[in-house]
Amino acid sequence: MGTLIAEGGRKHVVIMGAGPAGLTAAYELFKHEIPVTILEKDPHQVGGLARTVEHKGYRFDIGGHRFFSKNEEVEALWTEILGDEMLNRGRLSRIYYRGRFFAYPIKAANALWNLGPIEAVRCLASYAWARVHPIKNPRSLEDWVRNQFGWRLFSIFFKTYTEKVWGISTKELSADWAAQRIKSLDLWLVIRSALLPRRKAKTRGEVVTTLIDKFRYPRFGPGQMWERVAEIGRKKGSPVLFGQSIDQVIHEDGAVTSVVVRTPRGEVEEHTGTHFISSIPIRELIARLDPPAPEAVRRAAESLSYRDFISIALMIDRADVFPDNWIYIHDPSVKVGRIQNFKNWSPDMVPDQTKTCLGLEYFCFEGDGLWTSDDAALIALATRELAQLGICSADQVFDGVVPGACRRDSRIPAVTLAEPAPGRPQRHAQVQQPGPLDDDRAARGAEHRDWLRARPVEGECGRRVSRRHQGR
Ligand SMILES: Cc1cc2nc3c(=O)[nH]c(=O)nc-3n(C[C@H](O)[C@H](O)[C@H](O)COP(=O)(O)OP(=O)(O)OC[C@H]3O[C@@H](n4cnc5c(N)ncnc54)[C@H](O)[C@@H]3O)c2cc1C
Repeated sequence: MGTLIAEGGRKHVVIMGAGPAGLTAAYELFKHEIPVTILEKDPHQVGGLARTVEHKGYRFDIGGHRFFSKNEEVEALWTEILGDEMLNRGRLSRIYYRGRFFAYPIKAANALWNLGPIEAVRCLASYAWARVHPIKNPRSLEDWVRNQFGWRLFSIFFKTYTEKVWGISTKELSADWAAQRIKSLDLWLVIRSALLPRRKAKTRGEVVTTLIDKFRYPRFGPGQMWERVAEIGRKKGSPVLFGQSIDQVIHEDGAVTSVVVRTPRGEVEEHTGTHFISSIPIRELIARLDPPAPEAVRRAAESLSYRDFISIALMIDRADVFPDNWIYIHDPSVKVGRIQNFKNWSPDMVPDQTKTCLGLEYFCFEGDGLWTSDDAALIALATRELAQLGICSADQVFDGVVPGACRRDSRIPAVTLAEPAPGRPQRHAQVQQPGPLDDDRAARGAEHRDWLRARPVEGECGRRVSRRHQGR
């Protein structure tokens, strides 16, 4: 086992993971001329979930990534890193439901036209009913959204898509999570923003993220941001060390002393440092601690469940397929959840403007039918569903790819579950837990967080416990 030692008693920071969190920390340290070792398990790619994958000149994200922050410092940091390469983009995204496209954010005329006058009246009546007869103490997402929007709007605009994303019934998702995630959105806000001229938000903090119609995007996709930071590190003598999977995080007397990695050649190396920052998934971090964390902490970390995600890129022999950046597919007749049109995020995402590259996003659980399908079957499924939705014909698809990395690593921490109502069984094995799940899980989450804070890892950054990306 080789040992790589921090030089001459100076500060030396070891960063685990070269995703946005790890590389942002590294970037700040580069500015202060502090030596950094960045350990990344991927064999050659930085950016984590926000990486950009390339196939024969076509570039795609694992899920489209909007760059928008309410925090001006964060926006300024992105400008500092990429300058003119950050494009200002307008948003067009629609909801596809039962053969029709609904504008999102909702536009009154479009919604009325698509719903038809009878369904529109029914939606308003159902909204009025929900306001007059709210479900007291809503426990599930379904109850909470029904109170907020009425049953009919809930079933058109929330139910099918939310169930595709999380793989469980909206009855099993917690009302707390809905309140937190959809808190700044209610029907009046949606109607007001659809009918009245848009009032410019006075501060960035006032902006409702889900309704933003402008955002920034790097010219060559989100991965460009992290590739640039990695390049800065290389020039400063701190290159990302690829293919280094953290195997052990060794700690003593309340501080990490070193990390042990396995290299691509199967060799084991130990990296020492004065400070350690982890951005790897919390479940992995806890599992790799040596000596091990207390059993209760390990159990709490192991109980974090994840929703998996497969992205399938199809190349289409057509210049224009649809004008949106992405479309939400609420339609229950197909499995696809969202379709990205990368060329509409940035024209430079395709090498030939007469062609289009679409990313079809499927949500699944590790080990289920989608997860275990081979690439050819997934590409055939995506091609079939595109044709079924009338987006293009199967013979216009001339190439397809399922980037291995997408299947392996796109794990989204699962949301809080609802306390099961009497007589409502919980369905999915992976999220089956005894007892009142939301309180129980929250308590266990607090347990490993408190233990980590009091102990070994100097900094623990990134996004692990809740998924709040800025897609809708
Ligand atoms: C479909 C989708 C759409 C999204 N859209 C948006 C959006 O529009 N806007 C937005 O702001 N955010 C979005 N996000 C969220 C964004 O991608 C994440 O918040 C961000 O990538 C988190 O960064 P991170 O560095 O904490 O973690 P990660 O991106 O997960 O990076 C962790 C890194 O650690 C490495 N690693 C893991 N285990 C080990 C190990 N044992 N040893 C060494 N290295 C290891 C991984 O390979 C990875 O490179 C989206 C996410 C998804 C899945």
